Amino acid sequence: MLNLIIFGPPGAGKGTQSEKLLSKYQLQHISTGDLLRAERSAGTELGNQANEYISKGELVPDTVVIGMVKNFMLSHPEAGGFIFDGFPRTTPQADALDVMLKEFQTGISIVLGLEVDEDELVKRLLLRGQSSGRADDQDESTIRNRFQEYQNKTLPLQGYYQSQGKYHGVNGIGEVEDIFGALCAHIDSL
Ligand code: ADP
Repeated sequence: MLNLIIFGPPGAGKGTQSEKLLSKYQLQHISTGDLLRAERSAGTELGNQANEYISKGELVPDTVVIGMVKNFMLSHPEAGGFIFDGFPRTTPQADALDVMLKEFQTGISIVLGLEVDEDELVKRLLLRGQSSGRADDQDESTIRNRFQEYQNKTLPLQGYYQSQGKYHGVNGIGEVEDIFGALCAHIDSL
């Protein structure tokens, strides 16, 4: 199984690159942000609770997202591999993912980090907010809060995967196709 984590701050291009990777490598896409927004659109209790955090730019509690990822994996037993997009975002999530993958008798193959500076990220998110209607992309203080959460809770995972020799960073500024090529080169050299 090829299991990859696409890693990076909000607005780095994880969703865009995931779409291209999953079609090239025949993987299932797990985006916790998309799953949470689908819950919210469906008006479920989980979705309503999650929205309280999302609208403030805070992370949703670990138990909620871990449960969602587990359900998704269990409902795709045929998958040849997964792209984890926006997950894990905390140390408990990374630990839970290791346990889940072990239960599937597999593990993380590679972690691909999209590296983009904060000024560029703010520009991209505000632009995305104009077309997507995502409220968390329209307000600069919510965006800054998401970066704060990323710095404090998510960035430490880079070291966790680096120490296992799994992390590979790629410059996330440039043409989508060039960035995709750089990501594929890392995967193909596995
Ligand atoms: P972005 O990467 O641009 O922030 P996402 O769609 O991945 O967008 O996430 C949107 C919001 O959903 C996050 O700000 C957070 O509130 C919530 N969220 C998504 N994934 C997770 C996760 N793994 N753990 C906690 N909260 C999450």
